[in-house]
Amino acid sequence: MAILTNAPRGTQDVLPGQSGRWQYVEQTALDTARLFGFSEIRVPTFEHTELFNRSVGDTTDVVQKEMYTFLDKGNRSITLRPEGTAGVMRAILQNSLLSGALPVKVSYLVNCFRYEKPQAGRLREFHQFGVEMAGAASPAADAQVIALAKAVFDALGIQGLALELNSIGCPTCRADYHRALKDYFASHVEELCPTCRERLEKNPMRILDCKNPECAQLAKGAPVVLDYICDDCREHFEGLKRQLDAMGIAYQVNPTIVRGLDYYTRTVFEFVTTGIGAQGTVCGGGRYDGLIQMLGGAPTPSVGFAMGLERLLLVMDQQGCPFPEQAPCTIYIGSLGEQAGLKAAQLCAGLRAEGFWAECDTMGRSAKAQMKYADKLGAKFSCILGENELNQGVAQVKRMDNGSTAQVALEPEAFVQHLYHNTFEEIAETAL
Ligand code: ATP
Ligand code: MG
Repeated sequence: MAILTNAPRGTQDVLPGQSGRWQYVEQTALDTARLFGFSEIRVPTFEHTELFNRSVGDTTDVVQKEMYTFLDKGNRSITLRPEGTAGVMRAILQNSLLSGALPVKVSYLVNCFRYEKPQAGRLREFHQFGVEMAGAASPAADAQVIALAKAVFDALGIQGLALELNSIGCPTCRADYHRALKDYFASHVEELCPTCRERLEKNPMRILDCKNPECAQLAKGAPVVLDYICDDCREHFEGLKRQLDAMGIAYQVNPTIVRGLDYYTRTVFEFVTTGIGAQGTVCGGGRYDGLIQMLGGAPTPSVGFAMGLERLLLVMDQQGCPFPEQAPCTIYIGSLGEQAGLKAAQLCAGLRAEGFWAECDTMGRSAKAQMKYADKLGAKFSCILGENELNQGVAQVKRMDNGSTAQVALEPEAFVQHLYHNTFEEIAETAL
């Protein structure tokens, strides 16, 4: 395969005809987050590898199999971010955001990199929208974050995503659960994949989200964490349910959700659909009360989510969700000869300063070819400037859909006035 004309496997171009959809989804997500008090944070694409080893966890699939890690020219181990939370939390800590008003509420749009087997909804470079709320322990915080994810789906017209909810407890109650899991898997150790055999000692919960079919089958009969959580964790979980009930947000408790990253505590949740094939989790999130401490900060309870934008767009397509129409080209100002070209450029500049999409010739085309191009652009209006027009100081501005024309002085203000004040009906009248 030609290296120069084929992008690396698992990457995707967003072409000009599609980028408006991305802008719409991204802006809608940021605007919705704003209504909940979240402001955008931007962080680097790569971080020290150690950050992900520590936070995502070195027994996870992400760290063990999927990271793009390399030595830079200064011999530092660098990793292209496989997810957004670790870098955002690092930035919150490094920039002392926690010494301001609490909770800290940030949103982010990031590209992420994971060396996975590419398929529909699973890429090696993909994009996430996410939020983090740091400093709030109450279940009200979890509920607000979940409500925000749902509000983004609502704003985009996405329907029918199921919210699945679980609690995976805190480090205290998890010790009991780990023991129960170890006992269970220890009696099936020959059936586990080699990676999971290692996980059995270090982190048995990771076996529950192994993608290996035999491990997945075994995991189905494993003890569930919800049966092992302590009173405090249970009360937190019940509190979250009361919050969601109060907001009318429907959910199902799914005791098998554990999430693929190590930093989660207590609440974990997913928004899932069956409509886009096997990769049905559009959004995953939860609480990570130990993460900031793990990175060297003071204990800071935090909660957040990340949604995959490729999967979100797949769902929107599948459901026929509406996207806003791109505004069409307002006017094409054609020209013949250099003097007329200069005037056309000047008029276009004036129109653009007022927010109109205005085009002029950059190809040295004939009048006929220019009009054909104006047609292709879908321009609402057009005119051609030549010697006559320059001498008389006026152009015949044509309304493209019905061919009616009006005389307009060759001044930017006159063009602006014309486009502002001549509604289609008025132009139609003056053309008679
Ligand atoms: P999965 O179980 O599908 O592998 P995950 O648990 O690894 O997902 P997270 O790390 O929670 O995913 O990331 C949050 C969201 O990012 C996912 O719900 C999904 O929408 C999206 N996502 C994750 N990995 C990919 C990928 N390789 N390609 C496209 N989107 C992805
Ligand atoms: Mg994954």
